[in-house]
Amino acid sequence: MDRHPGGIIQFDTLLAGITGMTGVHVVPGDQPAVIDCGTQTSAVTVVDALAAAGIAPDDLAWIVLTHVHLDHCGAAGDLARAFPRATVVVHPRGAPHLVDPARLVAGTHALFGRLSPAIGGLAAIPAERIREAADGDLVAISPGRALRVVWTPGHARHHMSLLDEAEGIVFAGDAVGVQLGGGEMYPSIPPPEYDVDAALASLDVLEGLRPARLYVSHFGPVADPAEAIDLGRRAQAAMGDAARRAHREAPGDPGALQVAVDAAWPPAEALRTPDALLRWTAFNWLDNNLLGLQGMAEREERQRA
Ligand SMILES: [Zn+2]
Repeated sequence: MDRHPGGIIQFDTLLAGITGMTGVHVVPGDQPAVIDCGTQTSAVTVVDALAAAGIAPDDLAWIVLTHVHLDHCGAAGDLARAFPRATVVVHPRGAPHLVDPARLVAGTHALFGRLSPAIGGLAAIPAERIREAADGDLVAISPGRALRVVWTPGHARHHMSLLDEAEGIVFAGDAVGVQLGGGEMYPSIPPPEYDVDAALASLDVLEGLRPARLYVSHFGPVADPAEAIDLGRRAQAAMGDAARRAHREAPGDPGALQVAVDAAWPPAEALRTPDALLRWTAFNWLDNNLLGLQGMAEREERQRA
């Protein structure tokens, strides 16, 4: 557990026992919040970490989810039971999946195949425990401190970031990218909803917030927020363009897509250490990026037709 400026507590959910894959953040106050909560298989780790951070079962006020992918929301149902006064804050498009997780869980398990047991599912959350967050909503933490909801679609249509206005801290979920094992920031572009145009617009919004500090879910604070956002933008623009071009020239050819995307934005820097490569490949995230780009190109073609 790491304590950061502004009282932010960051801890590791130890996804599949691997350090530095998926982090969770706590914003302290009269009404403390946890931002994202990891997979269901990490629920015990997360509950224990919150207890170690001094948050008693009746204390946690908010479980804020940047988006409803299971590496961010899988433990939310278990947490809602362990912290019975907490309200789950989520984008309106995400809320139905928390009330009835069957389709989300089935789709995720279809994508991850034999890795699915390491991810787990999601326990349903009663609708009355959920607050659907509009863009600009405030989540009250203590007098003078709130988290502002900033919708940042792209990674998923329902992705949102959180701005700790008092401290100038942004929690960007997966909107900027992923920085693992000492590697460089590199985009996270999963199926089924990735949309590069929306992602780039969201990065402009995040840049406009001028964050003093920026946390990504995978993993931790970035050294220079403006530089990280700019890198995420250039990488996603290059990869999105390459995917569209490859789809025009060789539709449905995954090999051509991979060659084009890797040439447009070589992943070598992101993967330059064995630690980074281990984490990028443990859950097929590199392959999923290609699936996300391919899905986007196919969706755009259907919309043109
Ligand atoms: Zn993620």
